Amino acid sequence: MRVLALDIGGTSIKIGIINKHGEILESSEVPTFAKEGGEVLINRVLDIIGRYDNIDRIGISATGQVDPIEGKIIFATDNIPGWTGIEIKRRIEEKYKISTAVENDVNAAALGEAYFGAAIGNESFLCLTYGTGVGGAIIEKGEIYRGNLNSAGEFGHIITHVGGRDCTCGGKGCYETYASTTSLVRQVKEKLGMEDVNGRIIFDYLNKGNHDIKNIVDKWLQEVIMGLVSLIHIFNPSLIVLGGGIMSQTYIIDYIRENLPNYVMPNYKEVKVVQASLGNNAGILGAAHLAMKAKPRI
Ligand SMILES: [Zn+2]
Repeated sequence: MRVLALDIGGTSIKIGIINKHGEILESSEVPTFAKEGGEVLINRVLDIIGRYDNIDRIGISATGQVDPIEGKIIFATDNIPGWTGIEIKRRIEEKYKISTAVENDVNAAALGEAYFGAAIGNESFLCLTYGTGVGGAIIEKGEIYRGNLNSAGEFGHIITHVGGRDCTCGGKGCYETYASTTSLVRQVKEKLGMEDVNGRIIFDYLNKGNHDIKNIVDKWLQEVIMGLVSLIHIFNPSLIVLGGGIMSQTYIIDYIRENLPNYVMPNYKEVKVVQASLGNNAGILGAAHLAMKAKPRI
């Protein structure tokens, strides 16, 4: 079994050939050129697929809200204009006659961790990814919990501050406007007047013992933890997998593990918190897993 998997993000398309054991035999990355729009993008994806031979299945992890049955984008923001409505599965299968599975990128990453990464052996867990926003996925008995319109798991838009900051969703006070990496960077810029700062630079300062930075990071971690506390009380998960570049920082994961139990009720304290282990390969591996499960012929 050779699966061609593509993880289509806002800035780059990750491409991998994956075997049935979840081993990545080859991989590469090309720019998305998101601003050129959805139609140009799907044609770029079709071109990429055409470069590979002897492919049994195709798995696509895509940014935006996905209908996994139809394999199409049901909603995407204007980061990729015209991406909403693109029928990824139909376009690929019509051209190449290869069975194709399509999934939202956060869900695909969670499935990657479930079958090949940090959550192996856990049938039911939550996955959160911290970056520009906060993405979420719920895995229940090895499958994505999808909700009514395939849109469950938008943890970034839990409201944690009544009347709080404006969010890209149109609401106010959403979790991701306080707990995303973007929010941490914004606070460091505003409070310390630092320009040209990013997550890596912030942790360089923190690891050198900068107290002002540490205070801001610790306050931000309180925001991160409060969202997790609500999710733990709702889902009672045995495991939470935290992804996104910032969660690879030892200081962050240690702080969360140490402080989180102080805020949950006694019978919820058993929850384990781990870092995602597949990095930016999680999406292609999760998409490959779904493709392997898809019917062999179209
Ligand atoms: Zn929101």
